[in-house]
Amino acid sequence: MRRVRRRDTDCELALRKILFARGLRYRVDWKPPGIRSKVDVAFVGQRLAVFVDGCFWHGCPIHATAPKSNVEWWRAKLAGNQARDQRVTRALRDAGWLVMRFWSHVDPVAAASEISATLSKTTGSAGR
Ligand SMILES: [Zn+2]
Repeated sequence: MRRVRRRDTDCELALRKILFARGLRYRVDWKPPGIRSKVDVAFVGQRLAVFVDGCFWHGCPIHATAPKSNVEWWRAKLAGNQARDQRVTRALRDAGWLVMRFWSHVDPVAAASEISATLSKTTGSAGR
């Protein structure tokens, strides 16, 4: 199956740059053991998985557009993507990960602040 997910979207790159500039270190496109999907930005030590979801492919409530041709095919495709996102989120949470998902339209600076805040919380508590 072809991967439909676009890699290295502008937002994800911008977010990674800001995180790096703040001294945070992470793995990109990292596959946690036992999980069938990759994590966009993974803080392995803290078990925090960050995803930046493209508005079109992941069905953002603000920007998702319905393609005019092959309506049924697209509907199934995009619904499948969203179902997969939910499965991956659930699998990670079951494995003890914190999961944060951001739409690619969010301000990367705001997303980075949320991530740092979450990390400072998780670092303080021993294994949640
Ligand atoms: Zn959007």
